[in-house]
Amino acid sequence: MVLSISFQCTIQNNRSPTKTYYSVDTSRCIGCGICVDSCRFNAIRLDTITWKAQIDSTVCTSCGTCKRVCQHQAIKDTTY
Ligand code: SF4
Ligand code: SF4
Repeated sequence: MVLSISFQCTIQNNRSPTKTYYSVDTSRCIGCGICVDSCRFNAIRLDTITWKAQIDSTVCTSCGTCKRVCQHQAIKDTTY
């Protein structure tokens, strides 16, 4: 009997394990800042020119709080 097992090695292909990334849909963001206040990791700020929220993906822990508090459905999540 031949048994074939395949899997992806995250070290070999140099990719991070599956992670959910959060981003702001600037067409929906009204710049209220509620998400900024909700993020206990200081991963969101309001752009000083556009006054739209911006998420720093290098700091974001993917906790999802900002998405839950935004009343304008301006924060999207994508899982890779
Ligand atoms: S809570 Fe939503 S609408 Fe308000 S600043 Fe954040 S993303 Fe924009
Ligand atoms: S998902 Fe969590 S850590 Fe990331 S920006 Fe939103 S509140 Fe901050």
